[in-house]
Amino acid sequence: MPPKNFKCKQCGNCCLNLTDAFQTSVSDEEVALWEMEGRYDILEWVNSIHLGEEYYIHDIWISPKTGDDVGRCPWLRKLPKQNKFICRIQDVKPEHCRKYPQSRKHAEETGCRGFE
Ligand code: SF4
Ligand code: SF4
Repeated sequence: MPPKNFKCKQCGNCCLNLTDAFQTSVSDEEVALWEMEGRYDILEWVNSIHLGEEYYIHDIWISPKTGDDVGRCPWLRKLPKQNKFICRIQDVKPEHCRKYPQSRKHAEETGCRGFE
């Protein structure tokens, strides 16, 4: 649920400039959901490291070609002839993307224009 009075302008700032949007990690539950949905196109960009017993860290987004962190989110697409962006995995995007921004203050501090 987005914060009250919030409307995404599709400016792409969050996905382009906030490295913690695309150089971070996701939960066991998110990985399990992608597995359940057969989203191996997404899972190939996740690097799961076994930390012992049942503990894993699931780093995103890691290039399946180079094994390195990406410089920009692989799911972000610019709409043709518009200065707007869409997420290609909108329906199943990571929780931290779905919850952004968490408040008006968070938006203002991170350059989100959704309250303008
Ligand atoms: S997964 Fe979607 S919402 Fe999240 S950073 Fe990438 S393009 Fe943006
Ligand atoms: S920075 Fe805010 S307004 Fe721009 S795309 Fe992200 S959520 Fe939408």
